Amino acid sequence: MTEKIYEYKDANDWYVGTWDGFTYLTVFGDNEKFDTVRTRFYQLMEQLSVEGLQVHVVKMTSSFSFLKFLIQMIQEKYGRNLSVVQHKGAILVMEGQQIIDIHLPQEGISSDSFFGQADISTAFGDTILIATKNEGKTAEFRQFFEKLGYKVENLNAYPDLPDVAETGTTFEENARLKAETIANLTGKMVLADDSGLKVDKLGGLPGVWSARFSGQDATDARNNAKLLHELAMVFDVKDRSAQFHCTLVVAAPDVDSLVVEADWEGYIATIPQGENGFGYDPLFLVGETGRTAAQMSIEEKNAQSHRAQALEKLLEVFPVWQEKNTIHA
Ligand code: IMP
Repeated sequence: MTEKIYEYKDANDWYVGTWDGFTYLTVFGDNEKFDTVRTRFYQLMEQLSVEGLQVHVVKMTSSFSFLKFLIQMIQEKYGRNLSVVQHKGAILVMEGQQIIDIHLPQEGISSDSFFGQADISTAFGDTILIATKNEGKTAEFRQFFEKLGYKVENLNAYPDLPDVAETGTTFEENARLKAETIANLTGKMVLADDSGLKVDKLGGLPGVWSARFSGQDATDARNNAKLLHELAMVFDVKDRSAQFHCTLVVAAPDVDSLVVEADWEGYIATIPQGENGFGYDPLFLVGETGRTAAQMSIEEKNAQSHRAQALEKLLEVFPVWQEKNTIHA
């Protein structure tokens, strides 16, 4: 019988795994940097008494997503009660209520913070302000930050704040502009996002101009029509590759901002299809699925979109950033 092949792939991480006779980890373009990964992999397999897991790493930037990939494979094969969670910047592998393995950030973690004995307060309070008036977007971020113990609010609570013009030429510049300006005006911790569509054949356009691609009176329909027009002479779908991009910035007064970003890969269709979503969704063919983002349910899109992938990355680095900016009384 041929064993099932498992795969995890996003813009920065790519793993393939299967079950076979012996435990094995290979790394594409192998170098010393991965010695630690390899050692920890074999250690973990031994700790969990698991044999026969074979994994090939094509790209890895996130130990959290790598551990989740391994644990998911083991879960599926043996039905064990394993999970991977974050705690104060550390990654814990759990079996039921039992901690099996701890993965610490390179700079370590203060023990008072880890064991919760200190009177801890972040340098910027217990609230995060999401730099948007959109309640839908806020709801997505609320889920994330409430789990970490933060209260979540958005710009509707601050009607007197000026609008921050998106004058940057990169997603990061725009997201930083919003997050850092509002953090300095309010003294709060602020999260801002900037997203858009990048089409390879158009040198990355519409990019940061995605919302206003068709000019002053831009609408989704006009933007889509302009995009189709720009690509009218590009006939092969493989030449119509594109990515939805998302950059997230968390800022607070007097600290370095935290920046994460992610791409969702796809192609631009020749005709709009699907009724769901917004913006360029009816033209964005997701990966090799042949379906547009507008043909997906909201849940299906939210599980894999550029925003979902960026949030997943934030989940990994935010606890470390938070810890770095925490006052230990
Ligand atoms: P913003 O980051 O909310 O300002 O989004 C900028 C523009 O990018 C939107 O107006 C859309 O045109 C496009 N865009 C961003 N994310 C998506 C998406 O998930 N689907 C479709 N279009 C998107």
